[in-house]
Amino acid sequence: MARRKQTRGKCIFCGREMTRGGLARHLPACSKRQEAMEKAQQKPGQEQKLYHLQVQDAWWGDYWLHLEMRGSAKLADLDYYLRAIWLECCGHLSRFSVGGWQGTEIPKRRQIQQVFRPGVELTHIYDFGTSSKTLIKMVRGRTGKPLTSHPLMLLARNDPPEVVCMECGQPASWLCMECMYEFNEPGTLCDAHAQEHPHDNYGELRSLVNSPRVGMCGYDGPSEPPY
Ligand SMILES: [Zn+2]
Ligand SMILES: [Zn+2]
Ligand SMILES: [Zn+2]
Ligand SMILES: [Zn+2]
Repeated sequence: MARRKQTRGKCIFCGREMTRGGLARHLPACSKRQEAMEKAQQKPGQEQKLYHLQVQDAWWGDYWLHLEMRGSAKLADLDYYLRAIWLECCGHLSRFSVGGWQGTEIPKRRQIQQVFRPGVELTHIYDFGTSSKTLIKMVRGRTGKPLTSHPLMLLARNDPPEVVCMECGQPASWLCMECMYEFNEPGTLCDAHAQEHPHDNYGELRSLVNSPRVGMCGYDGPSEPPY
């Protein structure tokens, strides 16, 4: 199989662009992030345990997030965030487990600091029909004041994977579900070819947003972070 080009994304502190693994090494060492952490230390408030988590889709790993979460936050907070940025289509059930997606369920009321240690990987599953599976592991922990009042902070996410129009090879921004499911075609279309595309049995074309759930169930974005 041809080697896929790894997606890249930007460090929100310094703007440098790297792969998922590059950022896992960069973020703990980023000098702009160090400055932001020092500033946060001077503000009032309690120090606490903070967890740098790496989140990725369980399929190709093209879609990923680097997050810093409060140890006292709950898995429910992470579930909320994953639904908002990537997954929510029609309010399906979800669950966290350890030891693969068929492993032991971890209740959503559990705190991050009760669950994560180096080497622990959680699987999050959203929708038990057309499932989206996500893997979450700890990169490292630190003690300090959080940089945000939210339960977690987005440190980096992948740029949208490069997808080309199946008709002309130009960048695509639309997806035809009928092509995918009835004709086994990629179904990816540029703006021009989307305009003249004949299929409508699966409703309107879907927009190709930056989410691993594109083309699954009723998912139609917007794939924006809630904070
Ligand atoms: Zn940086
Ligand atoms: Zn759905
Ligand atoms: Zn085209
Ligand atoms: Zn089509």
